[in-house]
Amino acid sequence: MTERFSFDLQATDGKARTGLIHTPRGAVRTPAFMPVGTAATVKAMMPESVRATGADILLGNTYHLMLRPTAERIDRLGGLHKFMNWDRPILTDSGGFQVMSLAGLRKLTEKGVTFKSHIDGSKHELTPERSMEIQRLLGSDIVMCFDECPALPADRDRIAESMRLSMRWAERSRDAFGDRPGHALFGIMQGGLEQDLREESAAALKAIGFEGYAVGGLAVGEGQAAMFDCLDYAPGFLPEDKPRYLMGVGKPDDIVGAVKRGIDMMDCVLPSRSGRTGQVFTRHGVLNIKNARHMDDPRPLDEECTCPACRGYSRAYLHHVFRSQEIISSMLLTWHNLHYFQEIMAGMRDAIAAGRFVEWEADFHARRAVGDIEPL
Ligand SMILES: [Zn+2]
Repeated sequence: MTERFSFDLQATDGKARTGLIHTPRGAVRTPAFMPVGTAATVKAMMPESVRATGADILLGNTYHLMLRPTAERIDRLGGLHKFMNWDRPILTDSGGFQVMSLAGLRKLTEKGVTFKSHIDGSKHELTPERSMEIQRLLGSDIVMCFDECPALPADRDRIAESMRLSMRWAERSRDAFGDRPGHALFGIMQGGLEQDLREESAAALKAIGFEGYAVGGLAVGEGQAAMFDCLDYAPGFLPEDKPRYLMGVGKPDDIVGAVKRGIDMMDCVLPSRSGRTGQVFTRHGVLNIKNARHMDDPRPLDEECTCPACRGYSRAYLHHVFRSQEIISSMLLTWHNLHYFQEIMAGMRDAIAAGRFVEWEADFHARRAVGDIEPL
């Protein structure tokens, strides 16, 4: 067991990279997809089931956990890993993004953000220093800098002003994080869709120095084409020997396109949230289990999938339990979706290591283009 945080870049194929992040709580194979455990649980999944899908690391949400059950309570109970029974690495976000998207009545100053809880209206403050303290109390292995992320589209002045504030907050985050061997602090690049602002942001972060770097401020409504345009240059501004994390992405084709452009880590609620709404991702694209076409269909979601939902249950059964609002519906569909997302990551890791990423990507798109199997 290594006692420090490190990243081994093992192979590249074009801009795509594969490697290993070492932490005292275990290794993370990259490219990595991190399931989201918002409130100290990946909804509808036991931690051992999440691990069985192939996940090496989970994401926890500072905003949600600070409000309920509070970071101080989780600390008293032995930290987030023990609290939620997940002993492998955890990355926590800084709370900044969700303050913007969920909280009511915000006030943004140089110092930080004050806001009202979406749960009970109580007043809270998040600053770079408080975010570092909360993430330390949670026991997070990878801590994210506190930043501000403006929604797109926004005008260039607003993006520049916000990015520069985030860079000042990044420096305060670095100072407040202190010396914590075995734990990592990641800086977050901002700058919207403006190439020169992205470059300025990356330079500011590199001057401070972080164990990893995130590309923030994407997947906020700009669309895939604009996101890929930005990813064509943004990862190249970041150090090659440190992990690069694209926050909040995405759909399977977003993930593949991001890895192709040099991203190592991603997270998204999509596979778990979709599992609860009946949306299923397979190698043949997306299907909706609530559609009547599945009512008499004895076939699995995906003949080739080895997840419990596909090995043990028919589309007809999954349709029935979804329509009946049975809890097992969320459990099985979430498991399948997470399994499929991890299978994409494993496929890309193997392909990059073998120098076959282009072929793998062509096959990925060709299968999706075929679409779901014909109804019976
Ligand atoms: Zn499956």
